[in-house]
Amino acid sequence: MPGLVPPCGCRGQGGAVQAWVVDAPAPVDRGPLRRVERDLPEPGPGQVRVRVTCCGVCRTDLHLAEGDLPPWRAAVTPGHEIVGIVDAVGLGADRFALGERVGVPWLAGTDGSCRFCRRGDENLCTAPRFTGWDLDGGYADACVADERFVYRLPDRLPDEQAAPLLCAGIIGYRALRCAAVPPGGRLGIYGFGGSAHLTAQVALAQGLRVHVFTRGEANRRLAAELGADHVGGAADPSPEPLDGAILFAPAGELVPVALRALDRGATLAVAGIWLSDIPALNYAAELFDERRLRSVTANTRRDGGEFLLLADRLGVRPTTVAYPMAEAPRALADLAHGRFAGAAVLHN
Ligand SMILES: [Zn+2]
Ligand SMILES: [Zn+2]
Repeated sequence: MPGLVPPCGCRGQGGAVQAWVVDAPAPVDRGPLRRVERDLPEPGPGQVRVRVTCCGVCRTDLHLAEGDLPPWRAAVTPGHEIVGIVDAVGLGADRFALGERVGVPWLAGTDGSCRFCRRGDENLCTAPRFTGWDLDGGYADACVADERFVYRLPDRLPDEQAAPLLCAGIIGYRALRCAAVPPGGRLGIYGFGGSAHLTAQVALAQGLRVHVFTRGEANRRLAAELGADHVGGAADPSPEPLDGAILFAPAGELVPVALRALDRGATLAVAGIWLSDIPALNYAAELFDERRLRSVTANTRRDGGEFLLLADRLGVRPTTVAYPMAEAPRALADLAHGRFAGAAVLHN
């Protein structure tokens, strides 16, 4: 509660914490993560310290561990779908009370002053900071975060169910808006993992017709269980023209496939932070008729706040697979090899 927390809420709990770090990026089966012991982080001005209850496993963590995304500093701790309890606050931090449950997402900070921040597009900030890339993330016992970028979580959401909403959910929601499907329209979803299975729930609850194209029997089964109108293979043609589509799979070769499925004037939004190369496009078959191809870059805090409220109201619930924090490498390997449907969550 603001005012009741001492200027430095640290309660003298020194000591060590365990954290996974990206040692040397490499294919996940070669063990790029290493577990280290480090000092309990102290929150700086405006920061809160969060005791991590659980942390979702996002494909971005895999890209970081494998070097598709270059680590921006040595020995960074991945993880940006963090649910935990505020147990210390830094100077001037007064948004959260000690003991409050919070969510720490991917967007960790912006400069607040660049031309994009000033016009409300902070997802395009030219000097952004990201949890689990610039700042140590949630594959650990504790982390610190700028309180202005931390979310309160709806009470009804259990920890494990809340974690995947914090990146997979929020980015998928932004991608859905970018795909700009009109009310009652037809949405195509290419790839069906942690983000897509949440986005599909929102789209279906909003009355869209949802066509899912994905490899993997478990993913196809999950899509059908959630009520998708049509489920097909990753590169199958769509049974009807799409009013918008989202590419979740990090597979550039699916871009022309999805573009061909679009109706005139429709948009394909690419949700991932990393995509393999896109093959040459055929202008007439894949772009003409004012079809659009656009990327989705991070999110604004407004996207996150809106999505968490919407997810609570619509009852969006991730399908999760729990792993102990000690088995983070196994969770990442299982994600890489498509061994589960839905979203993995690491527990302390
Ligand atoms: Zn900025
Ligand atoms: Zn993520």
